[in-house]
Amino acid sequence: MPDFPLSQRQSKTDRTFVRVGNLELGRDFIVIAGPCAVESYEQTFACAEQVSRMGGHLLRGGAYKPRTNPYSFQGLGPEGVDILVRCARQHHLGVVSEVMDDENLRQMQDTVDVLQVGARNMQNFSLLKRLGKLRHPVLLKRGLAATVDEWLWAAEYILKEGNPNVILCERGIRTFESRMRNTLDLAAVVWAKQRTHLPVIVDPSHATGHRDLVTPLALASAVAGADGVMVEIHPTPLDALCDAAQALTFEQFSELMKKLTELLPHLGKSMA
Ligand code: PEP
Ligand code: MN
Repeated sequence: MPDFPLSQRQSKTDRTFVRVGNLELGRDFIVIAGPCAVESYEQTFACAEQVSRMGGHLLRGGAYKPRTNPYSFQGLGPEGVDILVRCARQHHLGVVSEVMDDENLRQMQDTVDVLQVGARNMQNFSLLKRLGKLRHPVLLKRGLAATVDEWLWAAEYILKEGNPNVILCERGIRTFESRMRNTLDLAAVVWAKQRTHLPVIVDPSHATGHRDLVTPLALASAVAGADGVMVEIHPTPLDALCDAAQALTFEQFSELMKKLTELLPHLGKSMA
């Protein structure tokens, strides 16, 4: 049996496009942006407005946060999902949000367009099997210390249950390097693009942990062949309740969109 029977690419043209509303992830380049955590209606509305105004495609935001420290802000829960979806719809954006368990899933499956499996849950096999029984697009983040094979086997868990709509997301891995929050593994992006038919996106926010590194690495991700990027933004990053150091200001986000739009045609790609 091949290592990755369901995700491996059969030919050069074998590619899966994951449909989210009018978008086809894996075809043209997409930008997902939004706050790390939904904190309030005003904060999320401002982010949605900025994403839409700058030509971003999907609004992200965590309502259930898998925080390493149990005393950190855990997210607004059901109210957060409601705020995120309302703000996105008002700006005609689809929604990406993290699901951690069955109870979250029940609250999210009717309204959230893309269900995110966070790095800390990449090997939560019962969650993966459960998501495999749905048709929702699943954004599968690479685990903090997962090899590329382990990441792809996690994708196989979802595919094997019958859900073909898997989007891979490289978000940096833990190495001995400590200046950066994680080490962005762009070789893994190239590897996954060459060997699988699945869309592959990059999250340079969690990969670096520093807002000033996000734009250069988002551009590098596009050059490496990623199908899109997911970045964290905040109207006032220093006040962010979660991941303040990596949130782009609105000005930085607009600069990122401008640079990506200029770069993509040189790579034979276009913004969705
Ligand atoms: C997130 O996207 O908000 C998140 C928690 O990311 P990760 O699972 O990659 O740490
Ligand atoms: Mn975050």
